[in-house]
Amino acid sequence: MTFRELNLNNPLWNALNDAGLSKPTTIQLKAFSVIMSGRDVQGIAQTGTGKTIAYLLPLLKMWQFSKKRHPQILIVVPTRELVVQVVAQVKELAKYTNAVVMGVYGGTNLRTQAAEISDGLDIIVGTPGRLLDLGYHGALNLKMIKKLVIDEVDEMLNLGFRSQLMHIMDLLPVKRQNLMFSATITDDVEALINEYFNAPEKVEAAPSGSPLSNINQCLYRVPNFNTKIHLLELLVAAKNDMTKVLIFVSTKVLADELYAVISEKYPDQTGVIHSNKDQNFRFNAVNKFQDGTYRMLIATDIIARGLDIEDVSHVINFDLPDEPQNYVHRIGRTGRADKKGESVSLVGDYETDYLKDIQLLMKYDIPVLDLPEGLIISDVLTDFEIPKVQMKNILGKIPKIKEEAFQEKKAKNKKVNNKVRHVTIMQKKYGKPKTRGQKKKT
Ligand code: AMP
Repeated sequence: MTFRELNLNNPLWNALNDAGLSKPTTIQLKAFSVIMSGRDVQGIAQTGTGKTIAYLLPLLKMWQFSKKRHPQILIVVPTRELVVQVVAQVKELAKYTNAVVMGVYGGTNLRTQAAEISDGLDIIVGTPGRLLDLGYHGALNLKMIKKLVIDEVDEMLNLGFRSQLMHIMDLLPVKRQNLMFSATITDDVEALINEYFNAPEKVEAAPSGSPLSNINQCLYRVPNFNTKIHLLELLVAAKNDMTKVLIFVSTKVLADELYAVISEKYPDQTGVIHSNKDQNFRFNAVNKFQDGTYRMLIATDIIARGLDIEDVSHVINFDLPDEPQNYVHRIGRTGRADKKGESVSLVGDYETDYLKDIQLLMKYDIPVLDLPEGLIISDVLTDFEIPKVQMKNILGKIPKIKEEAFQEKKAKNKKVNNKVRHVTIMQKKYGKPKTRGQKKKT
């Protein structure tokens, strides 16, 4: 089966040719005719399956120039990096058409974007918050939208964008085609679809959570945090085939701490990315990793999804994510486009439950490797690993409760200390059992 059989028009066909793409992927094949029929679509596909082109091809084929120059196609994605990536794909595919595409996201000047929008455009790609700002501001007229794509819906809902998505949909015309893509169908995703979509057709790339066959997975059981650092250093030093290594950690604090250690040894070869870094820093880090300047990029789950970085040789999970699907997304950054990829996880005793959930989801037991010879096993525990001694509750004389204790506190005494201590953050990840499903900003 080639793209020829999809009955594309010449501009699209030539653009695909230029991009060196000849054979459609499963999701591209399955989605094409359904999207062309005008029905709402619920696509179940992870990044790497070719899902972006799967929705772009039929949408671009159906697109018709309008003199009004308000966007007709709206694509909503969860991160700024994805906006840039999707815009690049649209530009590549639409290069022989006169469709104008624009990407919008927060952290950039609203007025500049508003001015650019007023010049006219056909396709807009954006993150929910900025799209809404532009919509409310009056700069973006969404009344001509005929096609809505919500990509990475599950991640969007994880990041707490539900109400923004709903507000965006309120700004759209009722008569439109809705397409959504998600790696997993959670209850939240189902609820959103039931509310806003009209009997969508399901199109699936591969069952979600299945282990990716071109990724070699392994894990080391590592007793503590400091030993994990030693092991990481040892692996990076010993393995020449670790040419492009994406190192995932669960929190921003940990990302910065690990970066401090690793960049001391490899100052020009290491980058870090998480949501507290400013946008230029984030793009810069990804670009330098993409072009090979950085051999290692330390990242939170913010880039576990969607981002398409070529030739990542290894994904190292410095810790395991508490959401098992995120493991699948993380390792999916390697082994792309039919290349072989390697994933190495460093698993502490405190992460055994996470490991169980991941293996259950994949229906696959990740092979355990012996710790390499020469590894220094540290017995120095970090603050968050030291078990906390529970003080006995010594029952003495019960103090008399004063009447005033029941009086309303004065306003100045009502203040609650909301400061979150570093130790507490670390404890949440590594110490005492944490609440499952608790959201972390990555
Ligand atoms: P996606 O799943 O949309 O993130 O796409 C992942 C990567 O697959 C991108 O780099 C695409 O350029 C690439 N890709 C998409 N469709 C095809 C195809 N039919 N043949 C080869 N590569 C593709």
